[in-house]
Amino acid sequence: MLDQSKSPVGDAAQLDFLNALFDKGILVDTGVDGLYGRSGEFEDVLNRFDALVTKHGAADKAEAMRFPPAMSRKTFETSGYLKSFPQLAGTVHSFCGNDHDHTTLLERVATGEDWTKDQQATNVVLTPAACYPLYPVIAKRGPLPVEGRLFDLQSYCFRHEPSQDPARMQLFRMREYVRAGTQEQVLAFRESWLERGQKLMRSLGVPLEIDIANDPFFGRAGRMMKAGQREQGLKFELLIPITSTEKPTACLSFNYHQDHFGQTWGIETADGAVAHTACVGFGLERVTLALFKHHGLDLAKWPKAVTQELWG
Ligand code: AMP
Ligand code: ZN
Repeated sequence: MLDQSKSPVGDAAQLDFLNALFDKGILVDTGVDGLYGRSGEFEDVLNRFDALVTKHGAADKAEAMRFPPAMSRKTFETSGYLKSFPQLAGTVHSFCGNDHDHTTLLERVATGEDWTKDQQATNVVLTPAACYPLYPVIAKRGPLPVEGRLFDLQSYCFRHEPSQDPARMQLFRMREYVRAGTQEQVLAFRESWLERGQKLMRSLGVPLEIDIANDPFFGRAGRMMKAGQREQGLKFELLIPITSTEKPTACLSFNYHQDHFGQTWGIETADGAVAHTACVGFGLERVTLALFKHHGLDLAKWPKAVTQELWG
């Protein structure tokens, strides 16, 4: 059977940082690349950062909502995720057989045969980005109020991209603000977070830059989509060097979806036009790792100004 638990993706600097995090117990090895336990200290920093995001966004009075790390398969299919990122998707399959099938299953496990081939797809898939479960919920409420809507989300997300880069996990948390409204409203939202995101990260003493970006759209058609996304300036990222200064890591992203989700889900503005949407995503593990990278693996030795900012 093909062993998909380990993949040799990751350069020496990435592996060094990963091993240092394991040695200190900050991340806990599970034997699968990109799937880690987290120490209490790691969680503490991550949660304080999450709270700091809330503080910086508080004036906007977003509506908070939390979804579990899996979502409706139907919603996922409608969202079009499979057109763009089939390589990243994670589905949930279960055993749905009888006693006889159970015996077969156990025999396969015992002999090391592939026991997963008769598993049936369930009605849930793993959430690929915190905002995916939200759009049909917005649509169901009917036309947007004149001022549009703003949501505050956080979810564990799954992406099938096993790697030895500690900043590229298969299961990680994404905090998001999602804006739905007119083009002007959602672009103003994105603009304000481009500013606020930089201010927030600067207050934590990490080097950063903003760059135009594209999503990892799959295949030949995907190449066109990547080019289009960059040309139209639909995605920006806030990058922080974690394991490489030449290739810093995207820790925050600022996405303008135009009317893609508005069309897909039938979200309308107050005057009956197709709504536009935008989201800002904070990679909570990535930011936490960036803080450990720049301030050291020993939390007790972090600069006062940084701990003050996080713990108040
Ligand atoms: P994206 O939807 O790709 O823009 O992702 C939103 C944010 O989630 C990014 O800015 C990253 O900070 C974070 N992120 C994306 N992929 C991963 C991953 N594989 N591991 C950890 N964080 C990730
Ligand atoms: Zn989003």
